[in-house]
This record gives sequence, C-alpha cells and structure tokens, in this order.
Amino acid sequence: MSPKKSLFFFPLLFFLILLSACAPNSEGIVLVPTTSSAIPPDWIPTSTLPTRTALPYPSATLSPTVTLSPSATPTQTVLAERIPIIEYHNPSFRLSDEVMMTPEWFEAQMQWLSENGYTTLNAAQLVDFLNGGAYPQKSVALSFDIGVASHTEYSEIVIPALRKYGLKAIFFLVANTNLIGDECNQGELYCWSELRNWSDEGLISVESHGIWHQDYKTLDAATQKQDAGLSKSLIESNIGQPVLGFAYPYDSISPQTIAILKSLGYQFAVGGYTRHDRSVLLGDSERYYLPRVYPYSNPNVYPRLSTTNGKTFEQMVQDQTSLIGLPTLTATQPATINPSPTHTGTPVASTPAPNSIEITSAAEYLSMCNLIDQTIDPVLRVYQLNHLVFQIDLSPETQAALPAPVKLIPSCNIRPINQPRAIILHGTRGPLSGAITTFQKMDNSSAHYIIDRDGTVYQVVPENLGSYHVSCYGLRANCVTSCPICDDANGKFVEPATQSIGIELVNQGTVLIDYSLGPVYEDYSMSFNYRYWEDYPEAQIKSLVLLVNDIRSRWNIPLGMVMGHYRINTNSDPGPALNLFWDRYGNPPRPAIFPTP
Ligand SMILES: [Zn+2]
Repeated sequence: MSPKKSLFFFPLLFFLILLSACAPNSEGIVLVPTTSSAIPPDWIPTSTLPTRTALPYPSATLSPTVTLSPSATPTQTVLAERIPIIEYHNPSFRLSDEVMMTPEWFEAQMQWLSENGYTTLNAAQLVDFLNGGAYPQKSVALSFDIGVASHTEYSEIVIPALRKYGLKAIFFLVANTNLIGDECNQGELYCWSELRNWSDEGLISVESHGIWHQDYKTLDAATQKQDAGLSKSLIESNIGQPVLGFAYPYDSISPQTIAILKSLGYQFAVGGYTRHDRSVLLGDSERYYLPRVYPYSNPNVYPRLSTTNGKTFEQMVQDQTSLIGLPTLTATQPATINPSPTHTGTPVASTPAPNSIEITSAAEYLSMCNLIDQTIDPVLRVYQLNHLVFQIDLSPETQAALPAPVKLIPSCNIRPINQPRAIILHGTRGPLSGAITTFQKMDNSSAHYIIDRDGTVYQVVPENLGSYHVSCYGLRANCVTSCPICDDANGKFVEPATQSIGIELVNQGTVLIDYSLGPVYEDYSMSFNYRYWEDYPEAQIKSLVLLVNDIRSRWNIPLGMVMGHYRINTNSDPGPALNLFWDRYGNPPRPAIFPTP
C-alpha cells in the first residue's frame, strides 16, 4: 500500500455527490403509462436477434466532408479530442420560459453544422471514438431524447433536416406503446417500420431511453435490469440493429445502474450535466456517464443560448470541439481516419491512442507532468496521462516471458530523481482499478509497477524517476530505525522513494475466512496479528520473479535489498503470504520465492 491511499476515497465520493447534486433535470417529462396499452412486464420479443458483430452498419461510413485545418497539409486532418453530444428533444420542446427550442432555431443549427463542415457521429462511431477511433476535429453527435409522441415534428422537421444537410442523429427512444404503434399513421404515434426505414437509410441510430422513463435512482436493481434489458431487446428486434447506448431518464442513476448496463451489453450511456468538461473525450474513462450539452435558448436572449453561459450555438460547438491541454498533441496525428469502426473492443492501454505523446527522457516526462498538473478537471487529467507513452524499462526477454504485454498507466505522482538500490514490494489492499485511479489522481501516491493477480504487469512510472510508494514525510524518525535505504553513505537522511523501485501486487491483505472468495493463506504464527490473508496466486508470483530479476540485473541490486514495505514504514505490508526468503510455516505450505543460497 502506498502513502495517503485511504485519504483518497472521501474526496472522490464528495466530488461525485457534488456532480450529481448539480445535475439539472433537463428532461421535464413524466410519462404515466396507461395499463391498457402497457407492454406487460414479462414481454419477450419473439424474433431472433442478429448477432452483434455480424450486423452491417449502413450509416457507419464517415461523412465525406472532412475539414482540414488551415495549417495542415492536404493529407493531414486535425483529429477530434473532444466531441460534444448535443441533447435535443422535439424541435418545439419547451422546458420553461427560459429553456426552449423552436423549429426555426433548430433548422438554423442544423444548417450551420452542415455549412461549416461538421461530421455527425452515429452510435457505433461514438463507441469507436470512445475506444480511441480517429474522427475529424469538427465532429458532434446529435442526440434526441424521445419521451413524448410527437411524430409530426420528427417526420416533417427533424428527418427532412437530417436528409437536407447530410447529418446523422442518435435517437434515445422511450419504447412503450404510448409512443409507438404497430401500425403507422396513428396520429402522433411513431411506428416501428418507419423508424426502421430511417435507420436503414442511415439517418438515425435508435438507442434506449428505457421503457417507462422512470428515475433509476428510485428503482431496485431487478427493475432497472428489466427496464433497460427489455427496451434494448424490443428496439433491436424491431430495428434490426444492436442497441449500443442508453440515456438515463432524468440523468439519474443508482450505484448499481452502470454495472447493470454493462451486463446487458450496452457500450455507453449518457446523462446531462455530469461533469465540468461537457464534451466526450477520446477514450473517455466515463463512458457510462457521459455528459451532454444543451442547445436551448429563449426569445429574450436568442441567438445566445440560455443553457451555456450566454454563448451562441456556434460558439458553444466551437468551444466544445476545441483541442485541449497538451501543446504538442496535434503534431503526431495519423493522417487517416478510421473508415470502419468496430464497437466490440475495449480500450487497451498497451496500444497508444491516436494523438499520443512519446516521452524519451526523464526531463521530458517531468515537464509534461508540470503541464498536466495544471489541469484542474480530473477527467481531463486522466485523459492526458493516458496519452503519454514512455519506454518500458523491462528487457524484451522479460516482456516476452510475461503472460501479457506490459501496459502503461502513466502517473505524474513522481519525484525528479531516483537512484535505485532496493526493490520494495507492496500489496494494494484493494482492487486494481482503485490503485490506478489513485495513482493517476494528483496525490502523493504511486509505484513503478503494478502486478495483477493474473500476472499482467502495468508500468506506472519510469524507473529513472522516483515514485511515491514509500515516504518518511521529510523526517527520518517517520521511518523505522533499521530502514536500509533511509540514510546515505555519510549517514545523512534521504527519502527512500529516491532510492528504490516500488512494485504493487494486487491483493486484499487480511481477509475474513468465512467471506473470502479467493485463495487464502493461514498464518499460524499470526506474525502481524491476523491469521487469514489473501494468498498470492502463482501467475502473480511468476511475474514478480521475472520483474525483480530484470530490475536487479539492470540496477545491480543484491537479493538482500529486495524487501517488503514493512522494512521502511511501520505496517504489515505486503503481509506474511508473500514469503520471500523463507519456507512457509503456514497453510498452504510453499517454498520461498527467492531461496537464499
Ligand atoms: Zn506499501
């Protein structure tokens, strides 16, 4: 465990509460389903669903209008780092006297996007962008939350505008029979065959807004799953395309909602004002709680918007698509744009995202971190970190012997100097995701490597920089008296983080035997006052041995200088289950990991 780890969770929780507390209820629509026309809760679509990957995407090709930046050569296109999802309702939507839309304003916005060369993304392309796909900088997603039956406005205003201006839209549909009829031409009801025709024409992707437009925060997990699952299968069977996205009714979720959407196969979900930066980021880390921007105004302020600090629609779109943060980000872009997005992959850290920045020296890493540390928005910070690429320190032979390619999870929680003479081993005392989140947040907590239970290795900090895996907090007395790396050759105090390489092993630490799901090590002697500890799996130990031997040979570190964190600070880290140098007196028995000759 690294310093300050436990302090992290409270501020994050507070931040999330703050975000959800200030999310406005932009929906303003409450649907009260009538039981006579309601779809019964046990309704199951009868038609067979097509498989997810085999489906053709008629709308998946990029708009031919690709805008070049004035300074770019003809083969280079400035690529999108941020894409706003604009949240429309029907063109005469009126939430209040201040927040409204008119068909004229709507038409003007569509016309401006088209005439200024904007590309509009369908749902599959948005997922591709979330996975790191390349799109022109001038890209937006037009989303429509469809919660009321207003067929005429869509058939006579929205769809003709999309056709006329060569744009695509993402419809988030409340899929119940108050809105959608089996037959067409029934007043203001939509009908499935017409929606399918628009989808086949490439004008729209039809995604889910639930069945009953209920506030998910008030629903139990089973009801949420039924609502999100039923709407997905209902739309898929009628439209013939996989449903990838979900729009939260009232922008509201419960702690279980995201896991439920993932389990149902959703690839992304949108809210409204979910965070400070209102655009979706390339490889966005919050793909199940994406923000949207509002295009609304009122007659007193038009053409300025009433929902975006007085900017016009044009200014808002330009702001939300502007490039961010890192000054050299546009220099290394590939010239080609992904013509055929796939939507089954998840981001892989070992594959550098487009627009990534290669770091070739410790000085470069430090100066890039100085820039990144100026980023206030935590989501932008993670985005910037994940675009740093540095040389993995492990030898090619060691990397080849590992069970999976080493992944980069860059952290800027670093010290400018490192002269390693010891390797310090830690257990994370929590999940991998928690360690990654902590290390990428601005905090005095990091390590050089993380080894997951399956043996996968993550490099977090280059070895020639110090990481915050141990600390005496500026005072020798804060470390144990016998600390082997807290004094220099002249007996002068040195911070151990400038003298060592830190490796974190994903491990829970002490466990309750009755509640443990994984392998358990029983320490008969209770050397740290606890009997049961999560055991370290063979795959994890195998990677650890490879790492330690590789680091030792490059930095000339003797075996005696490989040690647990408890040798530096007073704690039980990494615990008795990691039996480095002695055979185990415990259950299960196991020989030493590094037998001393
Ligand atoms: Zn530790």
